[in-house]
Amino acid sequence: MLERRELLISMAVVAVVTTSGCSPLAADAAAQAPVRGTPGSAGVGDSIFPGAGNGGYDVAHYALDLTVEPKSRAALSGTSTITAKATQNLSRFNLDLSRLTVERVEVDGTTAKFSRKGNELTITPSNPIAKGAKFATVITYHGTPKVLPGLIGGSQDGWIKTDDGAFVMGEPLGAMTWHPVNNTVHDPATYDVAVTVPAGLTGVSNGRYVGKESADFGRNTFRWSNRTQTIPYAATLAVGKFTLETGKTKAGVPIVNAVDPRHHASSRKALEEIPAIIAWGEKLFGPYPVDSAGAIIDHAPKIGAALETIGRPVYGKTPTSTVMAHEYAHQWFGNSVRFSDWSQIWLNEGFATYAMWMWDEERGRATTQEWFDGVYRVPAEDKFWAPVPGKPATGKELFGDPVYYRGAMVLHKVRQAVGDKVFSKILKAWTAEHRNRTAVIEQFISLTEKMSGKPTRKIFDVWLFGKGKPKKP
Ligand SMILES: [Zn+2]
Repeated sequence: MLERRELLISMAVVAVVTTSGCSPLAADAAAQAPVRGTPGSAGVGDSIFPGAGNGGYDVAHYALDLTVEPKSRAALSGTSTITAKATQNLSRFNLDLSRLTVERVEVDGTTAKFSRKGNELTITPSNPIAKGAKFATVITYHGTPKVLPGLIGGSQDGWIKTDDGAFVMGEPLGAMTWHPVNNTVHDPATYDVAVTVPAGLTGVSNGRYVGKESADFGRNTFRWSNRTQTIPYAATLAVGKFTLETGKTKAGVPIVNAVDPRHHASSRKALEEIPAIIAWGEKLFGPYPVDSAGAIIDHAPKIGAALETIGRPVYGKTPTSTVMAHEYAHQWFGNSVRFSDWSQIWLNEGFATYAMWMWDEERGRATTQEWFDGVYRVPAEDKFWAPVPGKPATGKELFGDPVYYRGAMVLHKVRQAVGDKVFSKILKAWTAEHRNRTAVIEQFISLTEKMSGKPTRKIFDVWLFGKGKPKKP
């Protein structure tokens, strides 16, 4: 099933590339021939979040034109224009949306019927959409976004309110708290975000900063254009008092940092490290896969998490450069190479955590061996050793320490077995082979065996899929 989905995705990518800008034939055919469609599925069958995402179409682009009034009852209002391509003859299709009120839906310029049930927004166009046809859905909506409870006690998922606005950390499912979305890693898309905010506030998103314009009633509109294929949880929006600071990476990728003034002084050191972190990542993991860089540092002291939102990770307080290295590593491991099912999240978190250890080693703070030894000292009877990091069984286990820290230990053992040189070659081959695609753990295991000529599978059996604390470090 996973294999099949991968194939679909890669075929869809090929199709988009080959037909971009020249679809009139398909559109004509769709307009002339009466089509009998069937409903797109209301989920993509993920083993942990079966209802997330939808089938029957493939989103190419989200154009969001939003107004955020942090002090108003309808804090968020606007339109989302979703350009997609039907992957079947489609009588109706779903998007994921949590709570917000939908006012109107149009498909290709004609009003469409819609209904709501839970987080499913079901849209029935006036005529079925032919397989292969590109279509545009415009959704007008408003409301006060409500964050979802996170999977780990006290954490939050989605639209997180701050004292001067809000920011979005949408992993795993929170993307649907701020816009109607195909909420699955199997449907990445590009984004344009225009956000209009009261004077004195700044709206920030991913991608390149296009500019600021004055809008009515003393508001300002901030425009962002993100041309990197982005999975929904890696898209963000932040509104509040921010200073925008610009720069460039060593390779010339534009950097925009949005910093809450309360964190200006404390964030200098870490922000200055961004070009070095990216250059270090390119040396170890291959070309930086995003067309923008930076950080969003907001003021949310109670939020302990950071999220690798594409090119521009978001932090609720000043991060250390160690945390930044983790979030930047995710640009390769998670945002570009994507797991194909949430139960495979080790491909994200194990790698980003080990990268963080490697960055500390690079900076002379702690060696990877010291990190490893520190984790191995956790007593065998601790529940840290109970879950299987390579196969979290429930949503709660996805973001637990075993996936991250035992996950990083696996890569340390592999690196020791194959040597630094081969290890780096493996990582580069991995990010190249699966760039902008999904992958499964088994493929990584095979790659390590193939490239090293060593029986590394045993390491994964013990450290990634084993139960309990391994007898020897
Ligand atoms: Zn992470």
